[in-house]
Formats: sequence, structure tokens, C-alpha cells
Amino acid sequence: MSLAASLLYASGRAPVSSTVDTLAARLRAGLGSDRVSVAITARRAASADYAFLSPVLTDALPSSFADVVAYPRSVDELAAAVELAGSLDVPIVPRGKGTGNYGQAVPLAGGLVIDLSGMDGVLELGDGWVQAEAGATFVALEAAARRVGQEMAMYPTTIGSTIGGFLAGGAGGIGSIEHGLLWDGFVVSLTVVTPSGTLFPRGDECLPYLHAYGVTGIIASATVKLAPMRERTGVVASYETFEAAVAAGKALLALESAPRMVSIDDPSLVSLYAPEDWLPPGRYSLRALVDKGFDPSGLGGRVELVSSEAMGHLTTLAFNHVTLRAKKARPDLCHLQVGGAALVSQADAVRAALPGGLLHLDGMGRDGFGGLLLSEFRDTATLYEGVAHLRGLGVFVVDPHTWMLGGPALADIRATAQANDPKGLLNPGKLVPSTS
Ligand code: FAD
Repeated sequence: MSLAASLLYASGRAPVSSTVDTLAARLRAGLGSDRVSVAITARRAASADYAFLSPVLTDALPSSFADVVAYPRSVDELAAAVELAGSLDVPIVPRGKGTGNYGQAVPLAGGLVIDLSGMDGVLELGDGWVQAEAGATFVALEAAARRVGQEMAMYPTTIGSTIGGFLAGGAGGIGSIEHGLLWDGFVVSLTVVTPSGTLFPRGDECLPYLHAYGVTGIIASATVKLAPMRERTGVVASYETFEAAVAAGKALLALESAPRMVSIDDPSLVSLYAPEDWLPPGRYSLRALVDKGFDPSGLGGRVELVSSEAMGHLTTLAFNHVTLRAKKARPDLCHLQVGGAALVSQADAVRAALPGGLLHLDGMGRDGFGGLLLSEFRDTATLYEGVAHLRGLGVFVVDPHTWMLGGPALADIRATAQANDPKGLLNPGKLVPSTS
């Protein structure tokens, strides 16, 4: 029995089976029977994400799943589904493509999962912006932008994921060197469906909906930033030393016309990737997306590849795709998301903080790198001792081994969730209980 079911029984309300049956019947009546499923395969498929990348989450995440799945095709259908579930006090979890890494999309209390991937229209484009439904993928968004001489300012390496899921569950990615993270003006406006009604935040009013796992409301559509399109190419170089690779990476970050991506790997990490002529063993690898016409001869090291065809492939060797690829070769690995100047200035100490540490860097702005520290997973105690040590070194660590929301925006998220969803139905179990 799901947690929601237990709670409904405990509160003396109607048994959950009748609540679920009622909800499913009302959803079918409101949205149409093809927009609702209680089939076990659909419920399971709608209840998992990439939390399996974390050995800690793999053990700790409860194996709970949706009681009902709805597939709205319009804001009205989404609003109707939220209203119906809200009237029955059923938990509601929005879902894009389920590529989040932290168990964010797992319905810990069961209830209704709303799969937004069918609301995938690219609605309108203007100079510097695109408006799209929440389920629009980055493949569709980038294609639409390029048709009018523009490009997405930023997107995650999971290009098949949705704009709604990225805004609610991601942070940054390709394009972040020039345009920053989600919180840096990427979002122009939103349409948000909540149990209290539909809202239309603009500018800074959108902040409590970013990386909030849907607890403050369900993004129905979003207007986000575009940039003028530039023709680019992929460049790969290799180096004998970390210092030489970082020096070349920094030179790229400082280019007047910013690269869309700069990544650097330790040789031991390179050895875990599928072999390529341009990934020579035993050397540090630098990969970048730069403007076409860029002259790589000033990069030092050895230029291994210049190819616009390789750009897609190169983006899948950046950000958390690195974890995915490395774990295929070495399932014993686990990852931490890390940032700060110490990644470069104290790289050896950073690697030594955890057993068999392997360092991956991604350019995150004009003046520095974030990245991943992969290491052999022994146990949770060793992992968190390592995290404490890293923080002592001045490394900024985002813990990818928890489904709980955190970070500096937490108070704002909590206050907005309380206002928009006083019954706490939206994605329950993801907000740390308030101590005040
Ligand atoms: P989902 O996983 O379905 O949902 C993510 C969260 O948002 C969940 O809590 C869900 O409940 C909520 N949600 C979904 N849709 C909505 C909505 N419409 N309204 C409100 N809440 C909603 N992230 C990055 O930031 N940058 C990267 O480069 C990156 N690379 C990745 C690489 C790999 C291999 C993997 C596995 C993950 C990566 N991620 C990255 C994380 C994730 O893929 C992205 O953030 C992605 O954009 C999430 O979109 P999704 O459609 O899969 O969302």
C-alpha cells in the first residue's frame, strides 16, 4: 500500500481503492479515457527517474509508485486533473521525461502522476525568447529557434528532456558559460497550475518555481531566453598535464565570443569512455564547442579533432552524462557535483578526498569551472566524510544523493508552496520539514 493509501486509511477517510477509483473515473470523464491509466506498467514507468546513478538513493529510495497516471494535452486538462486530485486530497507529482538524478520525480506518497510530455508544443518565438508548453523537448526547442536564426541560451545535456522538467529539476548546462544558470535571467515568465488556481509569474516571481521539484506548482508553459544563433564547431585537444589542460580551458572561457561548452577530464576518466581516436589514453582531455573558424593552434597540447559533426557526441561527455558513461564501465563509482576555485588550485587534494577520485570539469562561467568528482563507493560514511573534507578545502558540494530540496532558495520555495498548496499535495516528501 502507498503512503497516501496508509494516510487515507489512518485518517478514517474512504479506503484508498475507492479514492483511486473515484479519481480515475472522474479523470476519464474530464480528460477522456485515453488520457488516464491505472495499468501497472504505466504506473511504474511514470514513477522512476535516474536516481539509480546514486548507490545511496538506490538503497534508500522507497519503492513507491503512482496509483493513477494522467496525460493532459492542454493547460485546461492539466488544471482539471489538479483540481480533481486536490478535491480528493490525493498527492500530485508532475513529470517530464524522468531524467532527474535525485529521485525528484518518484511519487513517494503514491497518488496521481501527471505526465506532461504530451503537452509539447512550441507556441511562439520572438526576438530573444521562446514560449513553449512544459513538455516541449530541447530537441524541438533548439530546432524551432534555429529556424528563426536563434538558439537556446542554455540547455541540459539530456536534450530529449522537457523544458518544464529542466526548470523544475535541473540547473544549467550547455550555454551556461555565457548565460549562467536557471536563476540568472533565463526564465522570462511561466504559467503555473496549483491546487489554489493558475498563476502567471514573471521575472523574479518565477524564482520559487525553479529547481523546486514541482512542490510550488506545475509549470504548464514557460517563456525562456534565446540568443542569436552562431555557427559552431567541436574541438578536442589532449595534454600531458592537468595544469596545461586547465590553462587551455581558461583561455577558452575568456574568448570574446564565449564557447558553448568546455569540459576537461582526468586520463583515468577518459579510459572509461568508449574508445575514440580523439580520446588518446593517458592524456588529459579538453573538449569544447566554439565558434566556427576558431583557430585551435593556440590551445597548446595536441589538437585531436575539429568537427562540427561531433558536437552532439561531445555534449554527451559533459555534465552528468559523464557519470552515466563512467558508471557503465565501472558500476562501483559514485558522483558528487562540485564547484569552486579549489577544483583547480587544489586538484590533487580534491581527488584524494575520496577513494580513487576522478575529476571532471565543466566551464560554468567566464571565470571558472564546476564539475564532478567520481570515486569508488565504499559506504555512506566514507562518502560524507569525503564531502566534509571537500567543504573544508573550500569546495562547493551539491549532494546528489538526496531527494530532499535544499539550497539558498529553500525558504522562498517553502513559503510559496505553503501559499499555493496549503494541503501539501504537490510532490510530498521532497521538502525538509520546517523547524520553525
Ligand atoms: P523530470 O525528471 O521528469 O522531472 C524533474 C523534476 O521536476 C521532478 O521533481 C518533477 O516532479 C518535476 N517536474 C517535471 N515537470 C514539471 C513541470 N512541468 N512543472 C513542475 N515540476 C515538474 N541537468 C542539468 O541541469 N544539466 C545537465 O546538463 C544535465 N545533464 C544530465 C545528464 C544525465 C545523463 C542525466 C541522467 C541527467 C542530467 N541532468 C542535467 C538532470 C536532468 O536530466 C535535467 O535537469 C532534465 O532537464 C530534467 O527534465 P525531465 O523532463 O527529465 O524532468
